Amino acid sequence: MSIQTNDENTVLRGAGIGQGVAVGTVLRMSAPLPEPSDQPSSRTPHEEKARVREAVAAVAADLRERASTVEGTAADVLEAQSMMAEDSTLADDVASRIDSGRTAERAVFEGFAVFRDMLKDLGGYMGERAGDLDDVSQRVVAALQGQPAPGVPQSDQPFVLVAHDLAPADTALLDLTKVLGLVTTEGGPTSHTAILAREKSIVAIVGAAGAERLSDGDEVIVDAAAGTVTISPTEDQRSAALRRIEERAAALSGGVEPGALADGTAIPLLANLGSAEGAEAALAAGAEGVGLFRTEFLFLDQRMAPTVEQQREQYVKLLSAFGGGRKVVVRVLDAGADKPLEFLNDAHEDNPALGLRGLRSLRANEDILREQLTALAEADARTDADLWVMAPMVSTIEETRYFTELGREYGLKTVGVMVEVPSAALLADRILQVADFASIGTNDLTQYTLAADRLLGSVAGFQDPWHPAVLRLIGEVGAAGAASGKPVGICGEAAADPLLAVVLVGLGATTLSMSPAALADVRLSLKRYTLGEARSLAETALAADGAAEAREAVRAAADRFTTSPAPDRNETAQ
Ligand code: PEP
Ligand code: MG
Repeated sequence: MSIQTNDENTVLRGAGIGQGVAVGTVLRMSAPLPEPSDQPSSRTPHEEKARVREAVAAVAADLRERASTVEGTAADVLEAQSMMAEDSTLADDVASRIDSGRTAERAVFEGFAVFRDMLKDLGGYMGERAGDLDDVSQRVVAALQGQPAPGVPQSDQPFVLVAHDLAPADTALLDLTKVLGLVTTEGGPTSHTAILAREKSIVAIVGAAGAERLSDGDEVIVDAAAGTVTISPTEDQRSAALRRIEERAAALSGGVEPGALADGTAIPLLANLGSAEGAEAALAAGAEGVGLFRTEFLFLDQRMAPTVEQQREQYVKLLSAFGGGRKVVVRVLDAGADKPLEFLNDAHEDNPALGLRGLRSLRANEDILREQLTALAEADARTDADLWVMAPMVSTIEETRYFTELGREYGLKTVGVMVEVPSAALLADRILQVADFASIGTNDLTQYTLAADRLLGSVAGFQDPWHPAVLRLIGEVGAAGAASGKPVGICGEAAADPLLAVVLVGLGATTLSMSPAALADVRLSLKRYTLGEARSLAETALAADGAAEAREAVRAAADRFTTSPAPDRNETAQ
């Protein structure tokens, strides 16, 4: 992350969360409390320990109280922080520091710092929890000193909040009518600040080096899509940003146009769903169908396999919501490392991501697979959606043949496979001679290409679908789809990244499927580029050395395309 100065102004760079833009004046978080003195305590250890107990109890109660006023991730984060405050190992560490003569403040400061450093050393997801612990430490020290907890400044006017690393407790309770945007010096894209900002749709840049030089009253443009903070913008930059804010608000409120590129090329935008209950919200967000129905989500807590009738009822509900011939892609049960199904794969495996999962476990329990196909065929016969059925974690042509033949035996019209394993991507041309379509699961494809368990925080940095190795494999599948005239969808999280979505189309994806909340931003992003430009952006990404370089290079190239009006660009960048 960097600071750049051009002729016009200074631009800070960080990780943008979401796609929004905000224009406003800066208000900084109050400075962290000074480090408590390391002079020996004048109180007895007994007295100091009692002070710590009281302060910790007050902080934990405050965090729990805040947790009870919010929902979802915010509540989980605050609950987790209240538990950190009362952690017994930490309490023992603080007590032993008091026994060796420290004041309560100093013992808390030192004890929490040791645990914070241990988390930081672990890196990844655990490393990003270090900020949560720092916040608890500051709150306990403030309580010991009888000071108010450090927190968000109060203002009558809307402002852009600038902080070192906003505490989760503060992010959770931000007053969204006042906070236009958020900029932090620390934190990564999976820090709690980022997670909560995403959940609350706050325009945010985290890890913005140089943000400490921002002062109260500075005017800034926070551009989450570009990952930039522009200080003291020119009048032109300001009006361009305000135009984008209006354009996005209009797109997000309209939201029901079919997905298409600037030159009119249709890219149907579909929803990822885990139950029929989500259908209404998906349709309201403009989903043109369903690109991934995760059937295993319906039966995760069942000990016995679901019956045909039980399944049929669910599928009829889903297909009825997308009647009138809309496409619904149902994936057969995908039991695996992250989603064990007791009735399919109960045995212990040392490396479950590489084990009997997806189609492999269904094949080992073929009666369950046959019952599912029966239920799907019966639901299809009773409804008028366009049902497509696919298998997860297919790694060979033989498996493709097995599944498509079985599906056709049950009268299913359109039978395809997911491409989630590099072997399937590399043989996509032959797989598509057999299957009716391919749907790329970029979550697993990234995990298997970079050999990084998607559940493991310590290797989370590898789990980035912008990596050119992943993109090259996607390009193989796209090319095979174009050569065979068969559809290639994307249904992993990558499709929900608006700029990456354009690259995926450039690599040959014909549809994109994502969680409904992402549809509006992706729709807006596709409309900015022609097919020729999407292909050119894909080339740019493929030519990069790594994921971060690909993202940066595509951002820079994309900015150049969007500065001229779309209709003039139809012939460019073939
Ligand atoms: C994927 O792997 O990208 C995918 C869509 O499947 P899941 O996330 O359910 O494994
Ligand atoms: Mg998968």
